[in-house]
Amino acid sequence: MPSYDQNNIFAKILRGELPCYKVYEDDKALAFLDIMPRAPGHMLVLPKAPARNILDVGAADLAHVMMVAQKVSKAAVKAFGADGITIQQFNEGAGGQVVFHLHIHVIPRKAGVPMKPPAAEKEKPDVLAEQAKKLAAAIAAG
Ligand code: 5GP
Repeated sequence: MPSYDQNNIFAKILRGELPCYKVYEDDKALAFLDIMPRAPGHMLVLPKAPARNILDVGAADLAHVMMVAQKVSKAAVKAFGADGITIQQFNEGAGGQVVFHLHIHVIPRKAGVPMKPPAAEKEKPDVLAEQAKKLAAAIAAG
């Protein structure tokens, strides 16, 4: 497996070199909105520690990221009235991974509404900003 690339786009977001629509942050994880959402409120949850994917992440970091995925999933149900949540996580190109810093997709779903294809279209910045605000407030409310 190739080694971790410090210049991947999510590493730059984690270092604050690129912006994101943040919904949650703690000392070990960051969650923000996917800019090409497959459904409204599509989030990505990352460990702060450098890890390419499930094959090289430390067990404690992986467990923490899943705990945060649960937290933001519950917030999506509250904030968006989601009927369900789809969790996806891809590993290496052959596994469908495009950005090589481990991330869990948390996708709020409405009954009967199919997901858009991956990277179909960029969401408008004002829509993402509003959704991030709603999700962050739902998380803060617990
Ligand atoms: P994966 O590696 O899991 O296949 O997909 C990477 C995901 O990152 C895609 O869903 C894509 O829409 C998202 N993505 C790509 N570039 C950016 C970016 O610059 N910012 C954010 N927030 N998401 C991105």
